Amino acid sequence: MEKEVLEKYKRAEEISTKVIEFSKGLLKDGIKILEIAESVEKKIFELGAKPAFPLNIGINEVAAHFTPASDDTSILKVGDLVKIDIGVHVDGYICDRAFTICVGDEKHQLIEACEKTLKEALKLIKPGAKICEISEVVENSLAEFGFNPIRNLCGHGLERFVQHAAPSIPNAKNDIKDELKENQVIAMEVFGTNGSGWVKESYPALIYQFANDRLPRLLEARKILDMAKFKFEKLPFTKRWLKEFSPLKLDFALKELVNIDAIKAFPILKEQTDALVAQAEETVIL
Ligand code: MN
Ligand code: MN
Repeated sequence: MEKEVLEKYKRAEEISTKVIEFSKGLLKDGIKILEIAESVEKKIFELGAKPAFPLNIGINEVAAHFTPASDDTSILKVGDLVKIDIGVHVDGYICDRAFTICVGDEKHQLIEACEKTLKEALKLIKPGAKICEISEVVENSLAEFGFNPIRNLCGHGLERFVQHAAPSIPNAKNDIKDELKENQVIAMEVFGTNGSGWVKESYPALIYQFANDRLPRLLEARKILDMAKFKFEKLPFTKRWLKEFSPLKLDFALKELVNIDAIKAFPILKEQTDALVAQAEETVIL
């Protein structure tokens, strides 16, 4: 990997470490989740990087792809299992990391299981490691704690301005014999649950991403597509970041953009049986 690229990845990682520390200080009983999202994203900009995607805040059965809307009034409560998934990029080079806390509680077995499992998996993340070997360690390690992996969620590669690249590293056992290679950037993530171990999609979506060049009919849709491409640099964005549009026009425009396949929507992912989900994730350069 070129020296300049490596330096940008390192800066993204350093900034993400500061942002994680900052965000941990916010996660208290009674805080609005909107305040968490806005202040963490602001912090990323202040430290000289950009969010690679809207701050994902997954509470209890919500595994991924939730970020508060601008009118969200919900607050954290004691006992909530809160996943914070942070993407930081420097010039498109992304560091993707996540952690889980239980509000008002130092320890939670599901969090411990995911953190320990991630540590075990990271030991294997080296050139030559087979995907199936890593997945097996994840499933077995979670099983030792009595938990299931989320079978339809995966660790993944990262590329410049691409937050989900090949290879996929499933949380559950599989037959994928592909090997990791030198210079790959891997976001290894573990999702554990005390439920069935599958996530289902839930609507309305809050997160979107540029997909294809199209010519939308609505003026607002044209403006949003332009922002998706240039301002958000084809990385995921959320309705909350489109403050200049009235809520009604925004919904119509996003609907048109999804219908003509100009943007892609990411539905909220919830555990199928509404069981608890914890997550742990780190980005590694091989
Ligand atoms: Mn992530
Ligand atoms: Mn990830």
